[in-house]
Amino acid sequence: MQTVRLTLAPVWNGETVSSLSVRLELELPARAGEPLFRVFTKIIDKSFAELESPLRLFDRDGEIPCSTEDCPEDMGTVRVYLPERDADSPTLAYTVRTAPAGRNPVLDLGSEEGGVTGSGKTFLPAFFAEGPVRYCLRWDLSAMPENAAGAWTWGEGDGEHTGDGTTLISAFFAMGAPLDCVRVGAFRYYWFRNPKLLETAVDAARIFSAEAAFFRDSKSRDGRSLPYSIFTRHGEQCVHPGGTADHRAYLWLYRDNGQLDASLKFLFAHEMVHNWITAPDEPYGTCTWYVEGMADLYSLLLPWRAGIVTAEELTDELNRRSADYYENPRRRETNEACGQAFLSDLETTKVPYGRGLFYLLHADAAIRRASAGSRCLDDVMFTLAEPDPETPADPASASVRFNERWLAEYGRFVGGDAARAEFEDLRSGTVWDPETEAFRQENRPPVLAVSREGTERGTGDPCVTWRFEA
Ligand SMILES: [Zn+2]
Repeated sequence: MQTVRLTLAPVWNGETVSSLSVRLELELPARAGEPLFRVFTKIIDKSFAELESPLRLFDRDGEIPCSTEDCPEDMGTVRVYLPERDADSPTLAYTVRTAPAGRNPVLDLGSEEGGVTGSGKTFLPAFFAEGPVRYCLRWDLSAMPENAAGAWTWGEGDGEHTGDGTTLISAFFAMGAPLDCVRVGAFRYYWFRNPKLLETAVDAARIFSAEAAFFRDSKSRDGRSLPYSIFTRHGEQCVHPGGTADHRAYLWLYRDNGQLDASLKFLFAHEMVHNWITAPDEPYGTCTWYVEGMADLYSLLLPWRAGIVTAEELTDELNRRSADYYENPRRRETNEACGQAFLSDLETTKVPYGRGLFYLLHADAAIRRASAGSRCLDDVMFTLAEPDPETPADPASASVRFNERWLAEYGRFVGGDAARAEFEDLRSGTVWDPETEAFRQENRPPVLAVSREGTERGTGDPCVTWRFEA
């Protein structure tokens, strides 16, 4: 199998990791004039880490000169490297400097007291390799204190993981001394230096167990569950705790202990739901209502059903999300407009979350009414999670097809025409009143929504908002 042997050698400066040497021994053929690897020169607002020693590609015959081409990719720009001669097992080596931990998106190789965290997108390459690639990771901690450790999305210490050419750029990494960790089964949670994070780690482990059981988390080929990892960053540039998710991992950022409250349970629960509920979403905005609405909904429902959050914690969170949506001056924008405003207008960016959440709460109640309580949104969600053999390869067509599958499955309960009329309202920005049937649980108080006169953020105009009570 094509193999990449990766050695990471962090260097300690007495307080944190100041630089990182990277060595990649490639058991992949390099062919003259063909693309071998690429690195992100820019991804959203982050750049590739500063090089302390330049990228070198070489083999036993010496240096392998490369030409480069810059091209757009996935909200950024990549530099593609094309070797100028053939080589069977080339080595790529360089050293990067870390920089003080940056704000979200937390993709930079960011240092804080105790260590560094970051995404491979800003310090590792992706390969133009067809088929599976085996990665053998080795940590060289010879320039680190004795209690040092390193981890990535796929585990701690030296280890192997088989993925594809993009595995390194879709993984998160942490290295430090000490690297604190809570492990429960497949779940891992890492942080540096702050004992208060232990409580949040324990809550997150319980939420992962509840979600993994509900979604029947699949096992890998050797019968073990794939790891799911949360990495924690401390940094000053953080108004609200938040982070960036990638395959089977989440890296999040907080500023101070005052931010370590019950709302974190819902933040982690939301990010974990993305492991199991996905949909094509191209152009962005086509299915965001589903992807983010479902993550918002199940991040409330599953901790509530499992008894991990109190009625007060649940209603506090519902009230935060209610204010975010019903008092949002952009809540009547179309799905397409919301997608186009991604990150350029924060209020518009937030709309699909609340729109999806409150529409799906409405859909759940409608399914329960239509089936005399024997079915709920869970059934439709699990049906849509099944592989769809007719999904077109083109992502934009696949996104349209996904919405059609939603209409077909939801339409079984409310009727095809009604489902389509509601969906047109959803797409064009109709505001949904909340329904709370989904939160009905034996032995737990009923959750009620009461309408109030509110004020739109920014404009000060009057609006109808909703308060949740248990
Ligand atoms: Zn999300």
